Amino acid sequence: MAIVAPKGRKHLSADALFRLVHTGFDHIPDYRPADADISLTDALMAAFAMFSLQSPALLAFDKERAEGNLHPIYGIQRVPCDTHMREILDPVSPESLRPVFKRVLTQLQRGKALEPMVFLEDSSLLALDGTGSFSSKAIHCASCLHQVHRNGTVTYAHQMLGAAIIHPDMRAVIPLMPEPIVKQDGTSKNDCERNAAKRFVAKLRHDHPHLKFIVTEDSLSSNAPHIETLQAHGLHYILGVKEGDHASLFQHVQAADHAGHVTYYERHDRAAHVVHRFRFLNDVPLNASNPDVRVNFIEYWEIHGDTVQHFSWVTDLRVSTRNVFHLMRGGRARWKIENETFTTLKNQGYNFAHNYGHGEQNLSVVFALVMMLAFLVDQTQQRCCALFQAVWAKLGSKRLLWERMRALFYDYALESMRQLLEALFYGLKKSKPIMAVDSSSSLHRCSCDPPPSHPTISHRFGKATPPRRKGSAGNKTAGHIRSRKSLQKAETDGRNPERVVHYHGRIGLSGHKRELLTKPQSVR
Ligand SMILES: [Zn+2]
Repeated sequence: MAIVAPKGRKHLSADALFRLVHTGFDHIPDYRPADADISLTDALMAAFAMFSLQSPALLAFDKERAEGNLHPIYGIQRVPCDTHMREILDPVSPESLRPVFKRVLTQLQRGKALEPMVFLEDSSLLALDGTGSFSSKAIHCASCLHQVHRNGTVTYAHQMLGAAIIHPDMRAVIPLMPEPIVKQDGTSKNDCERNAAKRFVAKLRHDHPHLKFIVTEDSLSSNAPHIETLQAHGLHYILGVKEGDHASLFQHVQAADHAGHVTYYERHDRAAHVVHRFRFLNDVPLNASNPDVRVNFIEYWEIHGDTVQHFSWVTDLRVSTRNVFHLMRGGRARWKIENETFTTLKNQGYNFAHNYGHGEQNLSVVFALVMMLAFLVDQTQQRCCALFQAVWAKLGSKRLLWERMRALFYDYALESMRQLLEALFYGLKKSKPIMAVDSSSSLHRCSCDPPPSHPTISHRFGKATPPRRKGSAGNKTAGHIRSRKSLQKAETDGRNPERVVHYHGRIGLSGHKRELLTKPQSVR
């Protein structure tokens, strides 16, 4: 039986989201004169494409090889070189990228993709955590945090408060616009995570006044000012607490336990040989100095043979034997902001901690935000695109998936990400490399030469998979993905593509023709 590439939700496909991001970039005012050679949108989209393709380093983002597909897939008109990209992006205000994140999240809402992520009380879990994105003793910019050491040396750093919608049962996370922890305009003082959280919460409510969230964070966040901020903005919370940091809270619970006022609850998972043990108490003061800030307390032991793990949280949601197991899962899911978000960004392709270029003003922060935007689009595919999921399952790992995506992106003329994913899903017939030569040359394809062979998507039913490039006379068979070199040659020399002949092998090519084949197409 024929295998058919699964259809996904059109508005949440990579192609639709790339267009959405592109339109969002179009709305960011260009600070430069109107006659700038490369538009701000093209520079931002080039950075987005670099992260979207998970290029290991900026210089490895091979402009020459990739630019043929940067127009049809990412909508880039003119590709900047890496130096020019850095120059254009350095003065861009990080805050100007916020509406682009909002557009993507709104699209997810419209596509009802967030509904399955609702966790409890009609609310989604929102994990917040700080992370470092850069540290150096030499390189720094106007927004760097700085730490002066005793020996007089200075460490410069960038951090950010990351935020992601998570669900304990789902691997994909939906990141929101992070809040950079950087020196704020007009101050010489370092910023801190607590201030960043204050700004983040206010902006979150401004951007998404109706979304319901349960915020989950580590024990650094369970302080009275932060809890009051969350409550003032209508956000529920499940926050870690530690006995060492919250002595008065734990003493209060212990006294209540002695008086017989706490509730114990146990659940046995016989299949997994795990015992879940809880102790909880509602309406206790967070600490002695803030008796008015009342919280509900949960303590939890996971007992697996001789191994015991212990956790404790405070929450504003009233705890009962009915919901305590669920609340525990929400509290423990917080690790997803570290493992599924920061670790993925740092170690699995995005190279978050890599110095893509620091700039003098905002470049480092702009790169980090555009990377998070590319990660958001990637996670949306993982969550919503059946074709992406099918290709991922077929290849078995994300690393291999991106490796194959980049290989196709560099070497074939593509029209869309869907076409690329379909090519990976159906597979490609192996063929000899195709080279294009100018028809003005004395070298024409000899009648005894084998006919030009194109890498072709093999599919088991007669339907041609990749649609034909519009107006591309050279691509007569709809099933063909032509070698990008041949298409580029056809398009950039301004001649009718029909006149481009394909030639197998280089025997007999003059030095001039070899140069034509290998010379990079300069696009400025
Ligand atoms: Zn800096």
